[in-house]
Amino acid sequence: MNRSEYASCRLCPRECGVNRLAGRRGFCGETAVCRIASAEAHFGEEPPFTGRRGSGTIFFSGCSSRCFFCQNYQISQGGIGTELDMEELVAAAERLIGQGVHNLNFVTPDHFWPHIRDLAWELRRRGHSIPLLWNSSGYHRADRISEYAEAVDIFLPDFKFADSTLAHCVMGDGRYPEFALSSLRAMVEAKGFLEPFDETGGETARRGVLVRHLVLPGHIGNSIEVLRLLHREFGSELPLSLMSQFRPVAACRTRGMLARRLSLEEYRRVCDEAERLGFDRAFIQPEPGDEAFFPDFEKERPFEGNLRAVLGIRSGGTHGVAGS
Ligand code: SF4
Repeated sequence: MNRSEYASCRLCPRECGVNRLAGRRGFCGETAVCRIASAEAHFGEEPPFTGRRGSGTIFFSGCSSRCFFCQNYQISQGGIGTELDMEELVAAAERLIGQGVHNLNFVTPDHFWPHIRDLAWELRRRGHSIPLLWNSSGYHRADRISEYAEAVDIFLPDFKFADSTLAHCVMGDGRYPEFALSSLRAMVEAKGFLEPFDETGGETARRGVLVRHLVLPGHIGNSIEVLRLLHREFGSELPLSLMSQFRPVAACRTRGMLARRLSLEEYRRVCDEAERLGFDRAFIQPEPGDEAFFPDFEKERPFEGNLRAVLGIRSGGTHGVAGS
């Protein structure tokens, strides 16, 4: 196993240069010891990933983005997680595969890339052909995407901000839009758009890219600019997931920003813009702030609510319902 990239860590755009092997922590908050907060079949992802038997999500602790509003703040910034060595990580993945999940879904994996690479390699060596899914913040160094693409089949990145001032305010790096866009270009070039794309989940995805965008209350202009940017770059066939599930966490109230839920009207305006631009493979969610999508990682089963089946169709498009 090659862990040398942790020695002077430059895995993400923060390029901290700390020695994680020596127990130092960079901006992501993690040393070179892999930690996960949860490994379970998840039924709240978009239908092409959830299918009928669920997506095998493995949530990694820590995060290089650290948005203060993070809906998974308990694990991205709150320290929740269990240390696993490689043998235990492989065992967790094989347990999920044994449950019949449609894919292995690595959530916020980039700061543990050397572990992910070894995990993917070991699973293939053992003969597992299950699709591997990279589920991320979208905040990456584009020059790393080709390596990731050798290990995984599906990219499921966020595109959070087109507004660099908002990105700076929320995650301390106004360069997010340029990193996210250059990384997304590399993802699409490597894997193409998600396929097959079956909005019912009858047939689950094997490879490709789907982009997620979480609509933030009071920042509809950012969402509309994200949609226009994606449309200009990738056209209306780009698979999208427009998420309304935002719920303010404690840090939002402390900062006096994003301290309320999204209104239905705000969400509709963003969906209308997606429709106007001609995106016809865009998943939407039914109700802003739906608690079913909000996890509690202090519980043994963080996503208890996601077993509730939801499906909605928006007139004029092939919109389903999704989210994690
Ligand atoms: S992965 Fe973590 S330690 Fe490495 S550069 Fe990014 S934030 Fe810094």
